Amino acid sequence: MSVEKLTTPFSGNFCCIGLGQIGASFVARHRRVFSKSRMIGCDDANVLQTAREQDLIDDGFHANDWRQAIESADVILLAVPHSVVLNLLPQILERVASHVVVLDCSSVKTSVHALALQSLHGDRFVGLHPMVGSEHHSTSAANAQWLADACVAVTQTKETSYHFVDATLTWLKALGARPLVCSPQEHDENVALVSHLPQIVSSALVNTLATIPEASRLQGPGFRDMTRLAQSSPEMWREIVSANRAAITRALATFTQQLTSLQNSLNDDGSVEKFFRQAQVYKLTLPTVPVGRLFERVSMSKTAAQQQRVAAFKAQGISVAELHIGEPSEPCSPAVQAVYREALMGAPMKYTAVEGIPALRETVASLANVNTGCQYKTENVIVTSGAKQALHLSLAAILAPGDEVIIPRPMWVSFAESVKLAGGRPVFVDLNRKEGFCLDGQKIANAITPQTKAIILNTPHNPTSRVFSQNELSTLIDAAHAHDLWLISDELYRHLVFEGYNHCSPLLMWPNASTRAIFIDGISKSHRMTGLRIGVACGPAEIIKRMAALQSQETTCAVSVSQYVALKLLEKFPQGDPLLPRELSQRRQVFVAWLQKMQYEYGLLSTHLPQGAFYGFIDISRLIHEKTNQSFCVDLLEQQHVAVMPGEAFGAPGFLRMTLAVPQAELERGLLGIEAEFKRH
Ligand code: GLU
Repeated sequence: MSVEKLTTPFSGNFCCIGLGQIGASFVARHRRVFSKSRMIGCDDANVLQTAREQDLIDDGFHANDWRQAIESADVILLAVPHSVVLNLLPQILERVASHVVVLDCSSVKTSVHALALQSLHGDRFVGLHPMVGSEHHSTSAANAQWLADACVAVTQTKETSYHFVDATLTWLKALGARPLVCSPQEHDENVALVSHLPQIVSSALVNTLATIPEASRLQGPGFRDMTRLAQSSPEMWREIVSANRAAITRALATFTQQLTSLQNSLNDDGSVEKFFRQAQVYKLTLPTVPVGRLFERVSMSKTAAQQQRVAAFKAQGISVAELHIGEPSEPCSPAVQAVYREALMGAPMKYTAVEGIPALRETVASLANVNTGCQYKTENVIVTSGAKQALHLSLAAILAPGDEVIIPRPMWVSFAESVKLAGGRPVFVDLNRKEGFCLDGQKIANAITPQTKAIILNTPHNPTSRVFSQNELSTLIDAAHAHDLWLISDELYRHLVFEGYNHCSPLLMWPNASTRAIFIDGISKSHRMTGLRIGVACGPAEIIKRMAALQSQETTCAVSVSQYVALKLLEKFPQGDPLLPRELSQRRQVFVAWLQKMQYEYGLLSTHLPQGAFYGFIDISRLIHEKTNQSFCVDLLEQQHVAVMPGEAFGAPGFLRMTLAVPQAELERGLLGIEAEFKRH
C-alpha cells in the first residue's frame, strides 16, 4: 500500500517526545508541514536545532517538562523507551480522549501499551509499528499478528530508516482520515540492518558524547541515559547543558550530520556496503550479522539467475541464443575428448585427500610456478570445487570481519558476494573507462584504508576482456606496496589471450608473492570443462591449511573423478584445449565486424575490443535512452530470444556483456537479435 505524502501544514501543537528515530527524521523531513506548530518536549538534537533556527521552540531543553508537553499537545508522538512511557501512561490516558496519541510500538513493551491504548481509545489513538520484521517481532507469527491488530498503522520495513518516516506519514494521514492498516510484508535483505539502527544511532551518540567531558559521567547506551538523566536530575542536566552549550551544539551537529549521511548512504542506492563503510569511518558499533542470516547479505549469482530465466524459455521449446553465460559451449576438440574419456575409465571413486590428489597438486604447482615465478610445492596447492570455491576459501582464510577488499569495477559477478560471504566488505574502484578500462593505480591508492586487507585482480578480465599490461599492473603494485596487502589473483582466462596481447601474472611483480598472494586457476575455461568444477588455489602453506580445514567441513574434497580427469588433461594439455584460442579468434572477428557496423549505423559508443577471455562488452547507453539495460536485456530475451548479461550485474550500468565462446551461427543469430532490438528502441 502506498503512503501519501503529507503536504498540508499542521497548525496544531505537535509534541514530539523521545529520541526521534521517528520524530526527528520525520520533522526534519517535513519542516514545512510543521512550520506553524510548536514542538515541546522534544529531546532530539536535529529537531531542537531546526526548531530553534526557525523560532519554533524556546531556547532550552524541555525534555524534563513531560507533563507540560503532554498537556498542551494536540498530537503527541511518543518515541521514548518503554520505562518512560510507563510513567507517562496515566497522563497520556487523560489526554487521549480528545487528542491523538501516536506511539512508537517498535519494542514489545511499547506494543503492549499500544494494545491497551487501542482498546481504550481506538478512535483517537494511532499505534505505529515501523519495524515489523525487526528482531523483536520476527520471532513468531502470532506475535506479528497481535501486533498488527494492536497497531492501527503498521508499515513494512524496506531498506532505510526513512521508513520510520514513511510509517509516520501513515499515521498523519490517519489524523485527517480513517486509520490506515497496511499488512506487514516480507522481510527484505536489509531488515537485519534496520533492526540494528537504534544500536548504531546510540553508538554514534555515545561517540559524540565522549567528546564532552561532563558527559563522560553518563553510562550506558547514550541517548536513553541522557533522557533518564534529564528526567531524574534536571538540575544536573541543565548545568551540563549551560556549561557546555557550545560543545554540545557542535557535537550534536556532528552527530546529526553523521546520522544524515548514514541515512543518505542507505537511501542513495540501498547499498549496504556504503552504509557500513560510512559507519566505520565514524567508528560506530556495527551489528554483527548472525551466521544464520548470511543469506540476507549475499544474493543469488546474477549469471546463475539469468541461466534460470533462459532455462524457463527453453523449457517452453523456445530456442535461445545463449550469449549470457561465460562458458565455452562448443564441444572440446577430439584430442581433449579422448583424454577425458580415457581418464574417466581409470578415475578413483572414493574420497581423495582434502587438499586434492597429490599428483594433481604437484602438476598444478609446477605449472603455477612458470606463470607466477613462485616456488610452489604440493603443500602450497589446494584443489577445490571450481575456482569460485577457491576464491571463497581464500577470502575466508585471510579476512577478519569488517576487513575491506578492493575490487576493480566492472567486476565479475561473484567477487563482491564472496567477500561478503567471508565477512569482509567489498570496496569498488572504477577502472578508467575513458582509457579503455585501465587500472588506475592512483585511484586504488586512494581507496586504501587501515581496514584494507586485500585486493582482487582478475586478468584477463571478466567482463571487459581486458588483459592488463605489465605497466598498468606495476602502477597498482606501487600503490599497494606500502600497505602489506594480500593479492588474490584470478587468472582463470590466462590461456585465452588474443594476438597482440600478453598475459602477465600480477604475482610476478607483487611484493612478497609467496607470503602475501593467492593465485587462482582452473580448467573450466581453458579446457572447456565447466561442469567438472575443478579450481585450484596456490598460496602460503598455512593459508592452504586453513582452506583445507574449511573444505573438509564443506565438501570433504573436490569430486575425485573430476580431479583425476583434470590431472590427465593438465599433463597432456597444460595450455588448455588447443582448438579453443583459434575458434575464439574467429568469433572475435565476427564480433568486431558487427561492432564496427553498429558504430557506423547506430553511433554505438564502444570502441573497446576484446584482448583476452571471450566477452564482448559494449556501451549501449546511447541507444537505449531512458531504459535501463537491465530492461533492455529482458526485452531482448523476450522479443528476440537472445540472452546476454546486463552491465548492472558487473557494476557497469549502460553496458552489455555477451559471450563470444559459442558456435558461430549462434553468435551471429545473437548479434542480429541485438541489432533488431536496438532498432525497436
Ligand atoms: N564465470 C562465468 C561468467 O561470468 C560463468 C558463470 C559464473 O560462474 O558466474 O559468466
